[in-house]
Amino acid sequence: SDSHFPVPLSPSHVDYSLHYPQLFPSSDQGDDSKKIQFADIGCGFGGLLISLSTLFPETLMIGMELRDKVTEYVKERILALRVANPGQYQNVSVVRTNSMKYIPNYFEKGQLSKMFFLFPDPHFKEKNHRRRVIGPHLLDEYAYALQVGGIIYTITDVEELGEWMKACLEGHPMFEALADEELEADPVVKLLSSATEEGQKVARNGGQTFQAVYRRTMLSL
Ligand code: SAM
Repeated sequence: SDSHFPVPLSPSHVDYSLHYPQLFPSSDQGDDSKKIQFADIGCGFGGLLISLSTLFPETLMIGMELRDKVTEYVKERILALRVANPGQYQNVSVVRTNSMKYIPNYFEKGQLSKMFFLFPDPHFKEKNHRRRVIGPHLLDEYAYALQVGGIIYTITDVEELGEWMKACLEGHPMFEALADEELEADPVVKLLSSATEEGQKVARNGGQTFQAVYRRTMLSL
């Protein structure tokens, strides 16, 4: 349950030296120092983060994962990559937390430039839709954490969930769909279906995927 993992009181309490020790040698982080910009929500085994880490070596990124053992696995995976590739993978980390509750504890208003929701759990039954990681109320929170122009990436192999995520984003005043040319030009879009473990499983089985990629508009909360 939630009581088994610590939660920072506020974004300024997130200890960057624990997550990115080479980049933040001490825990007293100055106010103007670099902040986490990418968040992979429900990161699973971390495949997306590993790909993003070398694609955006100057960007700090974090995975949020509810399952303890999976989180530990991702931690070990990142440590092993750091040892095998000196100087690389220093910008990527993972934390065990419930993203549906604690996003505001980790990120300030307008801090993030990208959020990822790749192959989230579908929660098929109507009464369980409130457990979905994309929903009207949660989008308010994501809009708060994202900077203007920041992008939210979603993909699923469950058609009904894909429609749900798209409908929620479409109906939200603080998000607008990216144009086809923008999707084409964004190297990250190609990773959505190929970089994560779940995406690879779906691809192996020849499954269809449904993506929705939206930008945080200038409207304020
Ligand atoms: N994104 C990964 C991928 O594409 O391979 C993992 C997909 S997996 C189907 C969904 C993940 O979301 C699981 O690892 C699950 O533990 C995690 N998850 C579900 N609810 C969560 C929550 N409230 N906070 C953080 N992680 C959550």
